[in-house]
Parts: sequence; C-alpha cells; structure tokens
Amino acid sequence: MAEPRKKIYLKNYINGTFYEPINEGYINNYNPSIGELYAYTPDSGEDDVKLAVKSAKMAFPAWSKMPIENRSRILMRIADLIEQNMDALSAAETEDTGKPLNLSSTVDIPRSAANFRFFANAINLFASESHKMPDAINYTLRQPLGVVGCISPWNLPLYLFTWKIAPALAMGNCVVAKPSEVTPHTAYLFSRICQQAGLPNGVLNVIHGSGHLAGKAIVEHPDVKAISFTGGTQTGRTIAAITAPMFKKTSLELGGKNPNIIFADCDFDEALNTTVQSSFRNQGQICLCGSRIYVQQEIYDRFKTEFMAKTYMLKVGDPRDHDTNVGAVVSEAHFNKVMHYINLAKEEGGEVLVGGNQVKLKGRCENGWFIHPTIIEGLPINCRTNQEEIFGPVVTIQPFETEEEALELANQTEFGLAATIWTQDISKAHRVAEKIDAGIVWVNCWMKRDLRTPFGGMKNSGLGREGGLEALRFFTEAKNVCVKY
Ligand code: NDP
Repeated sequence: MAEPRKKIYLKNYINGTFYEPINEGYINNYNPSIGELYAYTPDSGEDDVKLAVKSAKMAFPAWSKMPIENRSRILMRIADLIEQNMDALSAAETEDTGKPLNLSSTVDIPRSAANFRFFANAINLFASESHKMPDAINYTLRQPLGVVGCISPWNLPLYLFTWKIAPALAMGNCVVAKPSEVTPHTAYLFSRICQQAGLPNGVLNVIHGSGHLAGKAIVEHPDVKAISFTGGTQTGRTIAAITAPMFKKTSLELGGKNPNIIFADCDFDEALNTTVQSSFRNQGQICLCGSRIYVQQEIYDRFKTEFMAKTYMLKVGDPRDHDTNVGAVVSEAHFNKVMHYINLAKEEGGEVLVGGNQVKLKGRCENGWFIHPTIIEGLPINCRTNQEEIFGPVVTIQPFETEEEALELANQTEFGLAATIWTQDISKAHRVAEKIDAGIVWVNCWMKRDLRTPFGGMKNSGLGREGGLEALRFFTEAKNVCVKY
C-alpha cells in the first residue's frame, strides 16, 4: 500500500524569515480535483499582521532610497526565478485550484513572471509630470507611500498576487500581502523565490489566513497606507467602508457579469471558438469570462447549435491530463454555490441546453468537484441568474434583434467590468464600445492583454485601474512643487 502523502505546512514570510502563525492555528487546504486535504495554511491574526507591518516599516527607508537600477535588477531576478521554477509552480497552482495544468503552465505562471519583468522595466522609464508657467515651473514628485497592503483572490492566484506586488515594490513601497486562504500554495513558494532573489528582508511580507482575520487586520492597520484589493464586490464594499474614513488610498478590482455580444455580421467561426473559451476557460472562474451571451436573431439558431456541440466536446477531466479542457472548480463550497445557481436558473424558468450536472470522474479524481460546462436559455434579463455573478462554468444565451436592444441588455446589470463585441462592421464596433458600461472592451477577441493598458471596472465592478502607469501612479503620493524664478 502506498504511504499516505505527507501534508505540507505553509508558513508566513516576515522580515525575510519563515514563521508559524503566532496563535499556532492552521486552516485546512484541499486539492479540489481529488477532494483531499493536502496542506495546512497559517490562520494568521492581528499579531502576525502587526509584526509584518513593523518589519515592512523598518525596511522602507533603505528600499525606497535604493537606486532604481538596483531595484529593477532584483525584480528581474524574481521574474527569472519564477520562470526557472515554472514546473513546480504550475504543479502547485493546479493542485491548489483544480485548473488544468496546461493552463497554469501556459497562462498563470508565465504571466506571473511577465508581471515582474514588466514593472521592473517600467520603473526605468517612469517619469513624472512638469508644468511650466511664465515665471515658474511645477514638477510632480511621485513618492512611494510606505507600507501598502495587497489582497488577492483564488481564481488566478499567483498571477493576480504578483500583478499587485510588482508595481508596489517597483515604486519603492514595502508590502504586506495576503493570498486567498483557498489557494495559498504558490504565494508561499513565491516568498521563497523572493528570499532567493535577494529581496531585502521586510520589503515583502506574506501573511496567510482568512479574510475576516488576517485580511481585515491588514486593511485596518493605520500604518498601511494603501490597499490594493481584487475579489468579490461585497468584500470590496466591506473594505471600502473601513478605508474611506481612514482616507486610505484604495484600488478595488471586483466582480463582473460580462456580456458577449455577437452580431450577425461577425466572423462566425472565430466568434464561436473564442466564445467557448471566454465562457469556460478556468472553469468560468475568470472575472473577465463572458457569462451572458447575446446573439443576433439571424444567426441565433446556427450559433446556438454549434456552440452546444462544441461545449459537449469539452473534456472535463483530471487537471494533470494534457488534453483536459475543464478541471475542477476551486472548492466544495464553490461547487455547492455554482450548483445552487444552476438549480435557481431552472426555478427561474431557464432551460438547460448543455450540462447542469456534476461530473463524476473515475480513478484519481473520483472525489473531485467537477461541473459540466453549462448553457442555459430562456431567462429574462432581470432574473438573479442573469444579474448575479456565478463565477463558474455557467453561461446564459439569448437572441436580440437590434444594436440598441443588445446595448440595453448588456448594460442592465450592476456590474461593468468587461465586454466582448463580435462584428465586422468597424463603425458599429466603435459605437457599441463607446456606449457599453465596461472598463475593458474586446472587439473580435477576448483576453488579449497588453500590460500597459488600464485595467479595471466601472459601476459595482470596482474603483480605480491597475496596469501600466495607472498601477505605478497608484502606489505613489503625488506632490506638486512650484518653483518661481
Ligand atoms: P473574496 O472577496 O471572497 O476574497 C478576495 C480576497 O479578500 C481573499 O484573499 C480573501 O481572503 C480576502 N478577504 C475576504 N474578506 C476580507 C475582509 N473583510 N477584509 C480583507 N480581506 C478579505 O473573493 P474570492 O476569493 O471569492 O474571488 C472571487 C471574486 O474575485 C469574484 O467576484 C471575481 O469576479 C473577483 N475577481 C475580480 C477580478 C478583477 O480584476 N476585477 C479578477 C479576479 C477575480 P480569504 O480567501 O482568505 O477569505
């Protein structure tokens, strides 16, 4: 009989050293594709956060004064080490999240390295503004804030963790960061990489634990000058209620309910193939997935039939298999949430065209939490299924007649994160892009990302923008100096 695998105990990373949580409490960490406990995550509390903030404060003077070239070199080294550890990081990401290994190794981990490489380069080119008057010159000093907090979700664990930490460090801040308690493993391995890369002690501190203890303690700490948060809209609201009266800089990247508008004049095959991706990649657990599909009446039946056929063909399987398209959803709790929404959709009068069921695999993954990609038809725009974020492999599909109707449907939710438009009519594409309530609009593509562009949502999808200069500026205090001559 095979020896039971030894469970991993993750540790907090504070002041360059690995620590157990002060209260000695741990949270169980499950591998969702096999439904088994495989690691223990520190259940850190206020005392751990206080220690982390103290060490970040101590590290700040030297880090913020370090010449940019040196800071950039350290960040580059981190990017290199992420790439060198690609296999271990990809395997850990897949074990923690249930996502296919072919996704973590081609998207999640390469992008984490790219985040560091991008911001390591960007600081070398960063310049602040200057405004000349007839008898004076203004220049803007953009100074680092001090200690900042970065809190990230479980769907793209290392990808989003590094997306926040890299610009914060690049601009000379010191960071206290918390990954999701559901998927902490790569953040732990990443802290080891930072140590190996020679990041000075205390510059980055990684605290593991739950949102309501460790996360809240970071948000509330008076010496944490800014919070960069990605997660659910309700959590964003809770965080904003704490940071607003403290006048803390806050960037909130929140939930979405993204429309995917397919006009009759689109490139049919391209729209179809990409829609399968934008609906079900990462089990639909990407904030940018299109969960409401609107198809113009003329091509509705054909699109629906072919979309159903392609969705049937997706392989739900062991995330380690190279040909798996859809892995496990992230946890049992999330599995129950998604299944609850599928049942709700039926109660609301929706017809399940494909999926709607749990998938029971054989062998290694027999106890995993897998859901068949699901397409639902026949629901009105104002029902909960079409209004609330499900964040799983579930989409609704509906026909529309005119451009105006498509826009009306697309904009009728409280969210405004991303939208996708499919048409070959360039004027129509521009018109719709301008009128749609979304911070990110893709025309004839999806998830095409240039890291220099502003990234974020409007309405209840967030506040502020990440990416490029927006991220670098967020992590600074702008001070105008006016010199008369
Ligand atoms: P949550 O809001 O539940 O959690 C996000 C992070 O916040 C986690 O680290 C969580 O910790 C922590 N947290 C929870 N409560 C608090 C609190 N009171 N104070 C401080 N921190 C807290 O989101 P999920 O992890 O469930 O992620 C899914 C959500 O993220 C979806 O809504 C999705 O749309 C959104 N998202 C948005 C993106 C965007 O760019 N707009 C990108 C990706 C995802 P813990 O997990 O330990 O509880």
